[in-house]
Amino acid sequence: MLLHDILKYNDQFVEDMEYVPYETTKFPNKRMVIVTCMDARLIELLPKALDIHNGDAKVIKTAGGTITHAFGNVMRSIVTAVYELNAEEIYIIGHHGCGMSETNPQGTLQKILDRGVASPEILASLEYAGIDLHKWLFGFNNVIDLIKGNIDLVRNHPLIPKEIPIHGLAIAPDTGKLDVIVDGYKELTAIKQ
Ligand SMILES: [Zn+2]
Repeated sequence: MLLHDILKYNDQFVEDMEYVPYETTKFPNKRMVIVTCMDARLIELLPKALDIHNGDAKVIKTAGGTITHAFGNVMRSIVTAVYELNAEEIYIIGHHGCGMSETNPQGTLQKILDRGVASPEILASLEYAGIDLHKWLFGFNNVIDLIKGNIDLVRNHPLIPKEIPIHGLAIAPDTGKLDVIVDGYKELTAIKQ
């Protein structure tokens, strides 16, 4: 059982004081907040590839690194990071080969039906109530467009300070190489001129 393994390991971890090298505060040392994908390949690779250590950054993870709503949970986390946790820069980090770029809402809905979790009638009644399940389950077509769209959403948000740089990066999940899609410093300079 996975949970049992985790708890057994955890007992030893705490007893051996293995947490000591990770002691830090809730304020990010590098004063940055990152929005990225929940992809399992990025768990350790992303911080290592960016030279980020425990305590350095606030990291918000979603499926695909998408921000789906201007007043949803991700934007709330960004706003909190900026005002309450001293984040001074925002990093939107998408990645190549993302599972959310290959989503198939019809296929997902079929799996929900096949597992007997919901009936066609329930799905129909959700659609009837105005919930577009296809749109809700859809990820994105192109990671570059996704990053730029996220940046537009954050940049134009009425509660985000205009002087905060918002960078857009794409990371390769095999090598950790970063491609700069948007240099937030240059964008700020361009706006000032
Ligand atoms: Zn992904």
